[in-house]
Amino acid sequence: MDASVSTLRDTAAWHELAERLRPETRCFVDGEFVPARAGGVFETINPATGQVLAEVARGTAQDIDAAVAAARRAFKSGVWSRMAPRDRMEVLYRTAHLIQGHATEFALLDTLDMGKPISDMLASDVPGAVRTFQFFAETIDKLDGMVTNTAPSALHYILRQPLGVVGCIVPWNYPLLMAAWKLAPALAAGNTVVLKPAEESPLSALLLAKLFLEAGGPAGVLNVVPGFGEEAGKALALHNDVDKIGFTGSVEVGKLMMIYAGQSNMKRVSTECGGKSPQIVLADTPDLDSAVAYAVDGIYANQGEVCNAGSRLLVAREILDEFTEKFRQKAKTAFVPGDPLDPRTTMGPLVTRAHQQRVLGYVEIGKQDGATLDFGGGVPAGLESGAYVEPTLFTGVDNAMRIAREEIFGPVAGILPVRGADHAIEIANDSIFGLAASIWTSDVTTAHRFARDVEAGVVWINCFDHGDMTSIWGGFKQSGSGRDKCFEALLHHTQTKSVWLHLGEDPT
Ligand code: NAD
Repeated sequence: MDASVSTLRDTAAWHELAERLRPETRCFVDGEFVPARAGGVFETINPATGQVLAEVARGTAQDIDAAVAAARRAFKSGVWSRMAPRDRMEVLYRTAHLIQGHATEFALLDTLDMGKPISDMLASDVPGAVRTFQFFAETIDKLDGMVTNTAPSALHYILRQPLGVVGCIVPWNYPLLMAAWKLAPALAAGNTVVLKPAEESPLSALLLAKLFLEAGGPAGVLNVVPGFGEEAGKALALHNDVDKIGFTGSVEVGKLMMIYAGQSNMKRVSTECGGKSPQIVLADTPDLDSAVAYAVDGIYANQGEVCNAGSRLLVAREILDEFTEKFRQKAKTAFVPGDPLDPRTTMGPLVTRAHQQRVLGYVEIGKQDGATLDFGGGVPAGLESGAYVEPTLFTGVDNAMRIAREEIFGPVAGILPVRGADHAIEIANDSIFGLAASIWTSDVTTAHRFARDVEAGVVWINCFDHGDMTSIWGGFKQSGSGRDKCFEALLHHTQTKSVWLHLGEDPT
């Protein structure tokens, strides 16, 4: 499938491409697409229309067993783990190249599966996945062991080796990108992988697996089993022959991963979970218009279905009215719900009807708890057939309210007035989450004190959501224990081995 630049601007052309799309829907095990062993399928629904997009293989424990066995065979054979580093690099580079070459198809798959705007896929998710594979390809021959400074009678060195079989379990909010963040470091370190994509958005992972094989990835090195969390996901996390689970998803399921590891083989677990990120705007912000623009983007981008969504706006009392008015005006034009296949659309539907109802339920909770609904809070007119929710703002929010404490994972922001930097940091830290946080201030001391004292894995000063592949991604507290993207993510997919060679007696 291909599309010229002119068709990318044309909604009708995107719909035509969508009509012609025939996605792969079977499990990918040992280099082949196969139906689920128990023969089951499940429907994946286009949330913009409510129509069935595809029937996908419903993987169960049997498919996970087969995929883990294939991954173990591939690992033990050394076909990947002992491949020359530069050859492994080439496979990941070619995978990146093929993702780029299939940008249109990937964009359509994720947009149709989970509703995000097609322009976001092309501008952000697809290039992000390409960069992820490129970055981790480049790390492969930078991974060193170490010789330690022992007495002359011994040579002691530390080998850094892959873990073995890694299970990856990912969510639906960035289907391709989250899969790339998990797969690329695991594969770069020489592991073999079984990936369980989210049941809401399984299609792009299957295309990715096909392209990895085309790029020269040996059979069995990357396996994908679509299916439900309670079936395929649980079987993978409980499997005794899986050495690590790399998980991205909710706090509740992240905790289950740790339980499953304890109930099985004590496999390593890394978790990337939810957030309730504070965006602090102090009275000495260097630029209120920029702060507002970032704040609006920080909560409404990707329909608010973002782990680090800046849902708590902690605004200094002195600028509260001005900030709120500018925020209203900006939100009105920046995020208008519409057809996600229209390249001009900035906000699509939420992922499912059930999630839409959950988010609308939080709007009711906010009102009942005494917050003021400033705008939004409903289903946009004319879009009732999809799972849409309007961009929504609450004012007069108190940090004790449920809308300030719980992850809504939708386009709902709350403004909490604060008395200054210390008060803002206190409120920012009063949360079970600790994924990301931002501050707007002209005072360098305040900025650095905030960076030091805020309990978050990612901190932005006078910006929000900036970063590249070198910056770490991961949380404090119940936002999880893992670190994605950076070189550290590669190390998390390795284990060290101590080798002691006796060279003779020490000279006396
Ligand atoms: P989820 O926890 O419901 O599901 C995530 C994955 O876990 C899915 O593949 C699902 O099938 C699987 N799963 C569910 N129950 C399981 C079980 N019992 N055993 C094994 N696997 C199971 O999360 P979601 O609704 O798909 O995604 C939204 C969540 O993901 C939000 O909380 C969001 O903050 C988080 N998230 C975090 C990051 C990050 O980097 N920190 C990034 C994206 C999303």
